[in-house]
Amino acid sequence: MSCSCFGASVARRKRRDPHDHQDLEGQPFENIKTFSYNELGTATDNFHPRNKIGRGGFGTVYKGILKDGREVAVKTLSAESKQGLREFLAEITTISNVKHPNLVELIGCCAQGTNRALVYEYLENNSLDHALLGSKRNAQLDWRIRSAICIGAARGLAYLHEELLPHIVHRDIKASNILLDQDFTPKIGDFGLAKLFPDNVTHISTKIAGTTGYLAPEYVLGGQLTMKADVYSFGILILEIVSGKSSSKANCGGMEKFLLEWAWQLYEEGKLLELVDPELDDFPKEEVLKYMKVAFFCAQAAANQRPMMSQVVDMLSRDIRLNEKQLKAPGFFRDSGGLSAFPSSNINKSHESSSTYQMSSVPTTITEVIPR
Ligand code: ATP
Repeated sequence: MSCSCFGASVARRKRRDPHDHQDLEGQPFENIKTFSYNELGTATDNFHPRNKIGRGGFGTVYKGILKDGREVAVKTLSAESKQGLREFLAEITTISNVKHPNLVELIGCCAQGTNRALVYEYLENNSLDHALLGSKRNAQLDWRIRSAICIGAARGLAYLHEELLPHIVHRDIKASNILLDQDFTPKIGDFGLAKLFPDNVTHISTKIAGTTGYLAPEYVLGGQLTMKADVYSFGILILEIVSGKSSSKANCGGMEKFLLEWAWQLYEEGKLLELVDPELDDFPKEEVLKYMKVAFFCAQAAANQRPMMSQVVDMLSRDIRLNEKQLKAPGFFRDSGGLSAFPSSNINKSHESSSTYQMSSVPTTITEVIPR
């Protein structure tokens, strides 16, 4: 279905009812399945608290079972997202057409009265933050699974950035947005949702106590939320997966340090393996070291020194030697006490956006294929 078909269909509906908050009443709407609020009530036992599986910046998430027996996650959208029906459906239609094994599938939506909800495939192993960082850590997360999670998530993000047209910048890559299916295959959730909210309302909960966790310095400093900001966040994610530590807590290595700061210090001291999660007792040292160095490339201070996600996939999954001479200190930002260890001269001042992104700015010299 093309966008113009969709637009025409909306226009026909609009003539019948001039109100934006028109109900869809569960009728099929072009490419996207629509559910009535009643259907979702039945699926979730009237949004019963025992079916609540989480709460994020967009709203509460419930587990539900559809009439055909399919398990779903129903994400109710909070009041700030109550945009008009047309805008809502335009965004949802875009997201629902995006299919990839490493992206959470959007099954349908509900727009009835002022209620808005999204219906996603249900992922049995919850989100990566629960499995990796939560109090009930999953003991099954050995290195084989962790590396597969890194590669799968990288593939999903590379697809959003480089294969899909128009490209989607995720804007909120973090462990709680990586969902895990029963085999621990990672699927990125929440992509494309930022546009459902007005510009002055941010759902991003990543900023914790004035720290930036996953946020690229150029975003914190200048509000530039680009593909390369996603790459930065992905680098932080790799460090979390390797270390089993959260990036938002400044207590790494028994010091007042954030994960990236600590990791870089260990790298400079030649002790990077100390970062590895003590729960990982058996792992290929060279490969794990390579993953952490890839994380540093992703988190370079200058956005144009970070790789594209397809390069990250290659670096993680192929026998590739990293050109460490190209590696500079990563960039990060603290707002208590001003800039800290942030090489500001490296900040790329150009305003790259997903639409104006120049492939020529991709560093090509950070890897070399190891001859067999
Ligand atoms: P934010 O919205 O601020 O990014 P978040 O990612 O934690 O935070 P949600 O995406 O709304 O918020 O998800 C909240 C929680 O609901 C997740 O951490 C996860 O535990 C659960 N969840 C979300 N989607 C699914 C799904 N498709 N299958 C299973 N559990 C899910």
